[in-house]
Formats: sequence, structure tokens, C-alpha cells
Amino acid sequence: MKKMDYFVNNYNRLSEILICPFCAEKLNFCDNSLKCVNNHTFNISKKGTIILYKTSKLKQDKIYNKNLFVNRRNFIDSGFYDELHDKIYDIIQNGENQKILDMGSGEGTHDYKILKKLNNSNLQMIGIDLSKDGIDLYNDYMSDNIIGIVSDLNNVPIKDNSIDVILNILSPSNENEMLRLLKKDGIIIKVTPKKQYLHEIRDILNIKEYENEDIIFDNIKKKYEIIEKDEYIKTFKLDDKTFNYLINMTPLLNNYKEIPKIYEITIALNIYILRKK
Ligand SMILES: [Zn+2]
Repeated sequence: MKKMDYFVNNYNRLSEILICPFCAEKLNFCDNSLKCVNNHTFNISKKGTIILYKTSKLKQDKIYNKNLFVNRRNFIDSGFYDELHDKIYDIIQNGENQKILDMGSGEGTHDYKILKKLNNSNLQMIGIDLSKDGIDLYNDYMSDNIIGIVSDLNNVPIKDNSIDVILNILSPSNENEMLRLLKKDGIIIKVTPKKQYLHEIRDILNIKEYENEDIIFDNIKKKYEIIEKDEYIKTFKLDDKTFNYLINMTPLLNNYKEIPKIYEITIALNIYILRKK
């Protein structure tokens, strides 16, 4: 099938909840674009990507570029997060007709792998990211029920109380916006790094810890009801290929000319299941 056919199928499932980022009116499909009653028009690219953002001229991000996302995809595809995907699958699996929104989806590899496991064509996956490079790659995965949309994470073009499951995987995001989008009985699955996450890289470069788990926990507790908190820690062997994926997907390494080789990497995550208070 053509990208535009897939786009239309996704649009048909989402037409009741998609809104114009300028005026919050319904978006209608016409002439390969989406248009609201006030004539705000958003074109759909050949890759099936639409930019539902207030500015049509997005700055090219020097760090979050295609190279980073391709390496991130390859790293995730190498299996380092498979158990995270299993865990998320376990949480979501019984839902019928659910809309799942990933806030800060990047190139969508987590979403694609989770959706493949769920294997339920009634589910609808939507990835939102500000990076057009990321969403263009996301839309490699586009089929009838998965689509990536370029949008501002602080002004997501989706109606209030319309999402069943929000994923927020290792990505900063606007908590108020997540609460606005979530249905009353919906859940947020939020994955944050533990202090051991990728510590081998920081150790070898003498970079100090970058996240404080306790502060993250306190913030989450203030905003949400915590249904469950799970931890995951595992150290993997790295070969030349996966080492290269890793250093090319890690923004903090941009300032280093050469990275000493490391042979192991630790994936250490907190996985929260959250509800509205
Ligand atoms: Zn409008």
C-alpha cells in the first residue's frame, strides 16, 4: 500500500481527536493535506509525515538528527530493551480499541516493537516528536494503525481526555500536557533512567551522574497516583557494532573526538504505571 493510503487509514481512526494546533478545530482530509474550518492547512509529505506545529519552518536540530535516530533504532533493534517491551506489553495487552500515544517517540522503534508484540489491529499507536528526522524514520513503520506526527510536545494537536495509554520512554515531556490528553481512567507508562543507566560511558569519560532518581520520583509522586513502580537492571556485552550504535545515539558524546572502547553496557530503568490523581 502507498503511504498516503496508510495515512488516510490512520486519519480515519483519529479524525475525532485530531485538532488544529492554531485554533483547536477539527482537521479534515482534503487534497493530500489536513485543513481546519479556518483554513489552516498542513501538507502530508511523501513519507507520510505531517507537521502539526505552529511554525512551518522547523529548525534542523544539530544533535537530534537522522544519524542519531538511525543509530538509536539499530541499538534498540539489537535487543537491549526487549525486556522493557515485554513489560509494557504485559501492562497494555488486555486493552481493546485503545489509543496509545508516545510522547517523545523519536524514530519509533520502541513503539513498533511493542505494537508488533500486541498484534491487535484494533489498537492505534501514535508517536509525537518535534524532530522531523525522527518522525520521517518513524513513518517507515507506518501501517494501518501506527503513525508518527511532528508536533510540539507542549501543544499536542489532540483533544483533551482522548488517550487510553500514554508512553513516555526516556524522554523529557510536559507533564500537564500528558494529563490533559489522558482519559480519566487512562494510564501513563513512564520510563526513567536509574543512576546506573549507561554508566559505563560516563565512568570512562569521568562525567558525573546526570539524573537524580529521588528528585524524579518526588516530582512524579506530586503529579500522579503511582499504581506501580518496577525496576529493571541488566548489563549486556557490547561488540564493535553495538558499541558504535551506542556512541552515535548518545548526545553527550558530541564534544568528544574519541571515545575509549567499552565492552559492557548497563540498561537500568524505573518503569512507572501512573494515573490521574
Ligand atoms: Zn485552525
